Amino acid sequence: MGIAKHIVTQDYHVHTTLSVCALKEMTVQNIVRRAERIGYRLLGISDHLGGYNTPADLRGLTPQLTEIETDVELFLGCEMCVKLSGEPVFPAEEVAFLDYVMVAMCHVIGDLPPLKDDPKAWLDGWAGRLDGAIACDDRINILAHPLRTLGGYYEGKPLMLHLPPARWEELFRGMAERGIAMEMCGVMENYPTVYDAVRVVHRIAHEQGVKFTASSDAHGLDRMGFQCTNIRLAEDLGLTPEDFWTPTRSAK
Ligand SMILES: [Zn+2]
Ligand SMILES: [Zn+2]
Repeated sequence: MGIAKHIVTQDYHVHTTLSVCALKEMTVQNIVRRAERIGYRLLGISDHLGGYNTPADLRGLTPQLTEIETDVELFLGCEMCVKLSGEPVFPAEEVAFLDYVMVAMCHVIGDLPPLKDDPKAWLDGWAGRLDGAIACDDRINILAHPLRTLGGYYEGKPLMLHLPPARWEELFRGMAERGIAMEMCGVMENYPTVYDAVRVVHRIAHEQGVKFTASSDAHGLDRMGFQCTNIRLAEDLGLTPEDFWTPTRSAK
């Protein structure tokens, strides 16, 4: 299977109405029917966890996912908030029923100064939280949209390039050792103008042995399958399906 086909037939980042940011149309039923129409083989539901949703709220989706009739292989994951330390807000035992856990270093429970106040301090804090996430014992399978808040220009270059290559290498080496995959996510402000930087950072991740996922982060049905930026990136990096993460079903 070519890489484009591989990417457009699987998606592990789709929100239902359990996420307050998702459109009302994002019911499990509508999402699965849409996935069938656009040719998904594998689909992961991943609502926000922490802040407002609890593990019990997400567990409530299980009956719907097991009862719906479809040829699409369904997985239940989450997009969990982290503490200021970078640790996920819920420990591994509370999310054991999930098939996978995504965390995002920009979804933080705690008092964090806004990015615009001091972008460099934000970047250092972001990298520090990722250190904490890598060092903790909690369950983490995927780092969600890592570059989303690092794409603005600061002092003449994209913020993500203010982190030296050696520091990126260190972070990605840690992720690879822990088996944490990195999500490619084209939903980013300024994506075209920071594309070179995005490619540089992903290349370092690839060289350090990090696996990838490519996702839509759909909050509406129209967004599902929107992976053109991810396909271009994967092709530019010469990635093959073996460079991508695949889920395994939890024991529940
Ligand atoms: Zn997110
Ligand atoms: Zn999301």
